[in-house]
Amino acid sequence: MSEGRTYLCSWKLDSHVYTIWVRSRPGVRVSGLTFSQAYDKLIYKWLESGSDDCEPTFTFDRSPPPEPLDAKYSNIDLMWFEGTGYTSDSSERRESLFDGPRCAWCGEPTGPRNDSKRQLTSTVEGHVSACVRDNFVGESPILVSREFLNLLSNEEQQCLDWIPCVGVPRSRKQFFEARPRSFVPYAAAIELELSGWRCDSCGAKVFSIRDPRTSFLHAVSQLSLPQPLPALFAIGSRGHFQIGASSSRIRELLSSKYSRGMNAGRLGVVPPSLAIAPTLRLRENEADQIRLRQERAAEDKAELDKYVANLIASSRPKK
Ligand SMILES: [Zn+2]
Repeated sequence: MSEGRTYLCSWKLDSHVYTIWVRSRPGVRVSGLTFSQAYDKLIYKWLESGSDDCEPTFTFDRSPPPEPLDAKYSNIDLMWFEGTGYTSDSSERRESLFDGPRCAWCGEPTGPRNDSKRQLTSTVEGHVSACVRDNFVGESPILVSREFLNLLSNEEQQCLDWIPCVGVPRSRKQFFEARPRSFVPYAAAIELELSGWRCDSCGAKVFSIRDPRTSFLHAVSQLSLPQPLPALFAIGSRGHFQIGASSSRIRELLSSKYSRGMNAGRLGVVPPSLAIAPTLRLRENEADQIRLRQERAAEDKAELDKYVANLIASSRPKK
């Protein structure tokens, strides 16, 4: 049983009705008066069809019709991708992968990724993957198989570094971790809802766009895109990033059998007139809050003990 695969879908608009179907299973077909309405039914139809894959990712052979605000953020036709999946890696080894310590508050790496190899501790499903993280603390790397890497042109391969992973014993699949040399930061826009957090200790800002009037989860500022635009570029920051490219190229990659596990979406491009600095909540650090609370309680108890001891000492009859 292999779960979490990516399935290529088609869609059409006919007499005001949107129809979506999975190309490899034409029986999985849904319709609605809007694209989103049809799309919302797709997962149920999929599960009804008796597939053993309960966590499918659906992707389309051409761009889905835009949501109301998409047009404003589509000056350049770009998409992003990342890995899905549940690969685990050695947590002890993880500490030596970045130069400098992790932020004590939020867990983000404060220094650049060095050349150390990540030690995988589970076999990897598919060809594009991510790592499991407890409570989303710590970096989310993009791992790709040798077969996926071979799909990329020389020019594309040279846009990032690919650090080989140390695989699990007996697994012959070779994986590589993408290491960007620079990042186009995530961008916010004046009218769009965000979800995410900031850390005042290390300055990290991790967020995505969560606005039903758009179809994109990630956006970059038009002014922050490098000129000329590289074939592949990283968006986000060293802890949390996706790889961006032209929509046509990402669709091409998605149609390959070696892209299994690849999760992709439209990349919003925020025009200068709508760009703003993001307003984000402070990340709570549960472990730290518990530790601080215990420290404060211990201090309070020590204070109280001292006070009581003084009280007892001073109430003793003087000789
Ligand atoms: Zn931090």
